[in-house]
Amino acid sequence: MLLVCLILALIVIMLYGTKELFSNCNVLKTIKTPNEIIQVVADDCLEGMPHTTNNNTIRVISSILQSHNFQNTLTHERVHLDQKRNPGDWKEFYKVHWDYDIQSKPPEKLPEMYNNNIRPNPDTELEPWALWRNRYLFFPVFSNSELKSLKSPIVKVWDTRENRIVDIPDEWNKMFCKDGSCPYQFEHPHEIAAELLTDDNDSIASSLLHKWVNK
Ligand SMILES: [Zn+2]
Repeated sequence: MLLVCLILALIVIMLYGTKELFSNCNVLKTIKTPNEIIQVVADDCLEGMPHTTNNNTIRVISSILQSHNFQNTLTHERVHLDQKRNPGDWKEFYKVHWDYDIQSKPPEKLPEMYNNNIRPNPDTELEPWALWRNRYLFFPVFSNSELKSLKSPIVKVWDTRENRIVDIPDEWNKMFCKDGSCPYQFEHPHEIAAELLTDDNDSIASSLLHKWVNK
């Protein structure tokens, strides 16, 4: 009986958590393009942040649809659609060219406080944990664990060899940045790739990516 109650409680918590994330996502308008469906959603859907919900649907709020930046947003989100359409290809690219393994579960030794505080992202949700060079685990946490706002997450780097949080490795900066220009959402290769294909920063990683995409 106790086990049944625990399972029920867990289901309620999980449903509540998901509902909470997408609770204000009323679809106001649907636009069909040859490549995807764009849903214009209420302003408070995911705090107004553009995102994909499956391999064919992009959601934006109306002010983004009308902004001069919309084309960049569309390019970025279309990369996320492609990642959902061809997950195996992307996973292989990350492994072979960027030395990233993306994973559905964190390493066992990661303290639970980080696991509990991970900031959800519908564009990386299947495999949110990104292990670089078989050693450094990148992941985003809420900037305020009480408020749990999705905006301005803090990216943490966990050294799986030393079992502690560390600074961004210099070698990572050398690969992903150029002249001080680094990816903004660097917590996951899905986000790094979407950024670099929208706005090339001429880094080593960006050139490898552009070569792979245009092959
Ligand atoms: Zn993104």
